[in-house]
Amino acid sequence: MNAVAVIDELKRRFPNEPEYIQAVEEVLTTIEDVYNENPEFDRYNLIERLCIPDRIFAFRVSWVDDKGKVHNNMGYRVQHNNAIGPYKGGIRFHSSVNLSILKFLAFEQTFKNSLTTLAMGGAKGGSDFSPRGKSDMEVMRFCQAFIQELWRQIGPDTDVPAGDIGVGGREVGYMFGEYKKMAREFTGTFTGKGIEFGGSLIRPEATGYGNVYFLLEMLKTRGLDIEGKRVAISGSGNVATYTAQKLLQLGAKVVSMSDSDGSIYVPDGITQEQLDYIFKLKNIYRGRIREFAEEYGCQYFEGERPWHHVACDIAMPSATQNEIDGDDARALIANGCIAVSEGANMPSTPDAIREFLKAQILYAPGKAANAGGVSVSGLEMAQNSQKLSWSAEEVDNKLKSIMSEIHKQCVKYGTEKDGYINYVRGANVAGFMKVARAMMAQGIL
Ligand code: NDP
Repeated sequence: MNAVAVIDELKRRFPNEPEYIQAVEEVLTTIEDVYNENPEFDRYNLIERLCIPDRIFAFRVSWVDDKGKVHNNMGYRVQHNNAIGPYKGGIRFHSSVNLSILKFLAFEQTFKNSLTTLAMGGAKGGSDFSPRGKSDMEVMRFCQAFIQELWRQIGPDTDVPAGDIGVGGREVGYMFGEYKKMAREFTGTFTGKGIEFGGSLIRPEATGYGNVYFLLEMLKTRGLDIEGKRVAISGSGNVATYTAQKLLQLGAKVVSMSDSDGSIYVPDGITQEQLDYIFKLKNIYRGRIREFAEEYGCQYFEGERPWHHVACDIAMPSATQNEIDGDDARALIANGCIAVSEGANMPSTPDAIREFLKAQILYAPGKAANAGGVSVSGLEMAQNSQKLSWSAEEVDNKLKSIMSEIHKQCVKYGTEKDGYINYVRGANVAGFMKVARAMMAQGIL
């Protein structure tokens, strides 16, 4: 395989899909050597079959708002690869959703799920519908309309969706309800469900907690501890808030959080009471992070991400893709940042990644660091199959050992000659090899 040639061909065929091409480029350039050590991969044109999704569903979602007006959104499901298990990946509701973004997320998900050690393929779905500013009833009607179209394509052993940006417990509940009605079955077809109807303890916390567990493993490689470290987080949604919660429990200082309107800076660190306020503000009142600054009188940077404004030891981007560019990365490094652990998917641009690797700071790409969420989703599927539920402690312990195992795989495949652990390479090669072997064994499909 010549990675550049493959990427050029994908660019030619999918010219309007920059995020998808970006994700593919990051993986292909790091696995090229290993791929070429196995000539049979090329004979089976494995790389093209791995880059292009198995199938994509696209559909119109028509729904009626509270005033009786009819709206039409687009809905999608990208089933990327099921070589190692049923398709698995979240659903995103955000006005920016398009096929390029969902294809990049589904592609990433395939490698991430492979890293988790569990049997899950990769998928992603979503809609350009934004729950922001919508009433509960509008969100419910939208979720029902979305599933009325999608339900035929998913199932407990076929494709198991979950949450992502704009899709939390409320939306999963509405979608699961509609699925259950259409399919006339009560199975674990969604993960991130409510505890009362098959959800797993620790699932809401899993991505954020898992990211912190991964960070602890990285810090350990340099003999460092988390206590007292200043951490800049972006976002104030599911991943960000539970990352902050675990950091507070471990004695770190969370100095920033954000939303799509701006970021807050709290130099002494957010307290537990303030974090509770953010949790209520975002999940119950569905307010803006600006209101936190008004309530507690801290600095607020309208329209800005945290990276230029905060002095931090660690950055944990937990909002969205491409939220740290090269300038942000240089500012973080100049301000003393020693570690970046990604809660979001692909939050760093290629330029930013180059800066982190050049400076040889600890840098964990999302497909390794945020794999805790889908890991506990896998554990939720296991509990649903058994018709049992495990204790929070049991799930949390399993999560810790999965994150530690992912870290070990990154070290195994990513340690360079000078001892620097290149987690990008480690995660990509480890994730790729398992899927590749499974695809080879199953023939050309
Ligand atoms: P939420 O919807 O709960 O929170 C998203 C947060 O990011 C909100 O604070 C939101 O602000 C902010 N945000 C969203 N889009 C943008 C944007 N374009 N610019 C700036 N800020 C933005 O989502 P999650 O916490 O679930 O997801 C966050 C990230 O983590 C995503 O990249 C997701 O793919 C990834 N992820 C999530 C997992 C999960 O289990 N939920 C698992 C693995 C990865 P606002 O409130 O203004 O919209």
